[in-house]
Amino acid sequence: MNPDDQMVIRCLNCGKKNRIPRERLHDSPLCGACRATLDEMIIRCLNCGTKNRMPENRLNEKPLCGKCGATLIVDGDQGRPIEVTDGTFNREVLSASGSVLVDCWAPWCGPCRMVAPALDELAAKYAGGARIAKLNVDENPLTASRYNVRSIPTLLLFKDGELVKTLVGALPKEAIERELIAIMKTN
Ligand SMILES: [Zn+2]
Ligand SMILES: [Zn+2]
Repeated sequence: MNPDDQMVIRCLNCGKKNRIPRERLHDSPLCGACRATLDEMIIRCLNCGTKNRMPENRLNEKPLCGKCGATLIVDGDQGRPIEVTDGTFNREVLSASGSVLVDCWAPWCGPCRMVAPALDELAAKYAGGARIAKLNVDENPLTASRYNVRSIPTLLLFKDGELVKTLVGALPKEAIERELIAIMKTN
């Protein structure tokens, strides 16, 4: 099987790394060692910092922090996309632990403007679990060429500083969210 068709998901219960075919990602796969469910991710509470384990299917039930009771998935504007540049890319993306989605865009690009509201929403919704960053490719050609960004919008998905997925074109919000969740679950 093509390794691109598989994702490595670390079991949050026992730590084993499981290889799961992409198409099985959404049928609640189980850990091969301890049989715990693998469709969990870690959402950090923005109020107290506690890391909460969360199965994907509970994300839409307004889950609360197990320690302080704060809402884990926020609707407001607590989470906003951050601007990154050639100068800050190392620090904000490559040195960051966890999941980072980088939107490569330019002000003149119509399809980029179509994607922007979806990214704003995802930045707020997953504020404790992922970062959304925006890179203006006109002003930051070094980073754009380093990642071979030839057309925009291009979304670069990083996990613990490593590029794990590139999405080209203006995808619907649901498709971007699915990819973001998949990255949040992998390790
Ligand atoms: Zn396990
Ligand atoms: Zn909390």
